[in-house]
Amino acid sequence: MTAPLTPGDIIHGFAHGAFGRDHYHCVRIEAVGPDWIVARDPDRDDEGHPSFTSGRRSLELCQEARDKPCPNDAPCPLGNSRQPLTSWLTQGSRDLSIPDAHPDSKDQA
Ligand SMILES: [Zn+2]
Repeated sequence: MTAPLTPGDIIHGFAHGAFGRDHYHCVRIEAVGPDWIVARDPDRDDEGHPSFTSGRRSLELCQEARDKPCPNDAPCPLGNSRQPLTSWLTQGSRDLSIPDAHPDSKDQA
């Protein structure tokens, strides 16, 4: 079974259009509700607003994009090299030190 989307998960790239057609950057989930997520790339200045999507279809696309290798760079530009500024990731979410999974798959989103 596919793991539920969790704060800290990175959704790579286009994500099959789950965030709209102009969305190509990787984002990290910062909040989740019953059928919605808010995700951001904290280093992006040009956009300035979080990415939001909701509904089963979109979230399934996000799960797919999360579980595929990053199409933008290897390792993902949102990799976990930086020290967190706050403790939000330690509040019950998963361990983010796991490197990008599935290096054998070459699928591009
Ligand atoms: Zn990525």
